[in-house]
Amino acid sequence: MQSRWSATEVQEFVTRYAPKGVNADLAVRTYTTRLLGSDPRLVLHGGGNTSVKTVMKDMLGEDVEVICIKGSGWDMGSIEPAGLPAVRLEPLRKLRALPKLSDEDMVNFQRINLLDSSSPNPSVETLLHAFLPHKFIDHTHSTAVLALTDQPDGEMVVREVYGDRVAYVPYTIPGFALAKSVADVFDKNPKVEGLVLLQHGIFTVGATAEQAYSRMIEFVTLAEDRLGRQRKPLAKGTLPAKIASVPEIAPILRGAVALEKNAMAGSAKRQILDFRTNSKILDYVNGAELARYSQQGVVTPDHTIRTKNWPMIVPAPDAGKLGEWVGEVRAAADAFVARYHDYFARNNAKSPVKKKELDPLPRVILVPGVGMFGIGATAKDAAIAADIAENAIAVIADAEAIGQYKCISEYDMFEVEYWSLEQAKLGKSNEKSLARQVAVVTGGGSGIGAATAKAMAGQGAEVAILDRDLDAAKAVAKKIGGKALAVACDVTDPASVKAAFDQVVAAFGGVDIVVSNAGAAWQGTIGTVDDEILRKSFELNFWAHQSVAQNAVRIMQAQGTYGCLLFNTSKQAVNPGKDFGPYGLPKAATLFLVKQYALDHGKDGIRANAVNADRIRTGLLTDDMVAARSKARGLSEADYMAGNLLKREVTADDVADAFVYLATATKTTAAVVTVDGGNIEASLR
Ligand SMILES: [Zn+2]
Repeated sequence: MQSRWSATEVQEFVTRYAPKGVNADLAVRTYTTRLLGSDPRLVLHGGGNTSVKTVMKDMLGEDVEVICIKGSGWDMGSIEPAGLPAVRLEPLRKLRALPKLSDEDMVNFQRINLLDSSSPNPSVETLLHAFLPHKFIDHTHSTAVLALTDQPDGEMVVREVYGDRVAYVPYTIPGFALAKSVADVFDKNPKVEGLVLLQHGIFTVGATAEQAYSRMIEFVTLAEDRLGRQRKPLAKGTLPAKIASVPEIAPILRGAVALEKNAMAGSAKRQILDFRTNSKILDYVNGAELARYSQQGVVTPDHTIRTKNWPMIVPAPDAGKLGEWVGEVRAAADAFVARYHDYFARNNAKSPVKKKELDPLPRVILVPGVGMFGIGATAKDAAIAADIAENAIAVIADAEAIGQYKCISEYDMFEVEYWSLEQAKLGKSNEKSLARQVAVVTGGGSGIGAATAKAMAGQGAEVAILDRDLDAAKAVAKKIGGKALAVACDVTDPASVKAAFDQVVAAFGGVDIVVSNAGAAWQGTIGTVDDEILRKSFELNFWAHQSVAQNAVRIMQAQGTYGCLLFNTSKQAVNPGKDFGPYGLPKAATLFLVKQYALDHGKDGIRANAVNADRIRTGLLTDDMVAARSKARGLSEADYMAGNLLKREVTADDVADAFVYLATATKTTAAVVTVDGGNIEASLR
């Protein structure tokens, strides 16, 4: 591992933070914390921590010795000085004399000794840092070090690499007891440059930030060198000749791991999937002994809160036997849940404090021949689970290459999974009305589509924006932020629609809500209008809706967790406008299409509803058209746009709200909601 230390960058940090009252120690601490935190081979998503002991002034202007330690909820890779709260050091050191200290008392004592009461909670490993005398301390969950210690004879393996340069501490759950045993180990070996916490990670210490950091890089490099020697490759398992594709299998997997599957009652609670594959992942999932090495447990304890202790394994999906595979996947999910219930019951019986069981579903699925899926309530959570699972794959593959992978005991994992201080890292969330759902919006690059995509994302949906104009779709996705997906799609080309849905399924695992919105207006007097115009309009304003809905239903049926089809019809569908036949006719057919989908797929819990909008400023009714039409009618633009019963202009956002409402109205199907400010001629009877 290369050192990325740069004296110039250190100076930049010191200069940048000095005007904000941050001292040089803390500025340099911020710098190397980021260096360590931005390498996934060292730490991931909230893992690891660092500290510096320094002197700061309190409110009275008096110098106080403090430890600045990583705060809960901060990622090392993007840390700021505020993420390294200062705690009075002397009181912390005195705690070492206590025989026992509960987690709650420890957290409370750390909080009351903060210099700034608005700081985040100091790390659960604060006392470990405080009891050691060194100025700078770095802690990572280096994959290379873990691959060495996660072995039946892990201590011997690391001793061969580091000798007396580090001290070795047997696995103990983080907290007061670990801090005390680490301090005791150090007292016996005061010259050590670091500590290996077996089956957990590595600490390095230093008088300067550079010393602690360069020791970390050196120790990790030594571990990497050891892993490079005497390797044996993973034995390959057998695979079917033709493997099914990700778009074919993802909805089946997603349906199998939904929290609740009661589609007809409207209570399906879904998960978002994040697919990963590469040669390392494939070597791992295709291994003959996958069922052994992947089911041992986590490579470092805090992974359990993101990935649970084991991934779910499903058989390789034979492209010719997908029907049978569905049954095998459901059986694998049931077996996973049963195993989890047993694990909980067995360990809760041993636990001094009785716990409440968490949801029993997997966070990672391994698919031989294909790759791996991370699972989460949001695309972000699914990506975190996938990142951690990829990291675990690297550790376990390396551990198997030089020996055999072995992790902490099942009860140790249970203790961390059900530890209140770990659960606190996940935070509490009140889920929004469209959370855990994937929404696809066609014509999402502008107007009503863009407003709807934004509104659905605002309600917690993961959004895919389909548009013929990829740049426009990308611009909307960027505005929405997060993991919104932009996809190029010509809805009049069935192959393009299929490809777009495949892309959405590969990104999120499936589809729950489809807003079939793309459309365009053609004019002409019926009877004389060119057939070509009429056919063109039918392609976009009818056939494209059918093509989009067909793909959505195929995916929704594979998931088995119901779904929602929404169509943008038009006032023209019920109230023909003069010379607007080419537009109104296919829209009227689409209105009937809505009813047909509602009728034929109600039994699958798939709802179909429509919104009739009128006179909205969009690509269909441009500012120029508004100017021309209002002039032709002798009205001001404002009066023309507000020419409805309520005398108020209707906007794309108003239409978007109606789509969001219909997406959440789980008992409504075959309905049309009119959003036009009131037009009695176009009102439905
Ligand atoms: Zn740790």
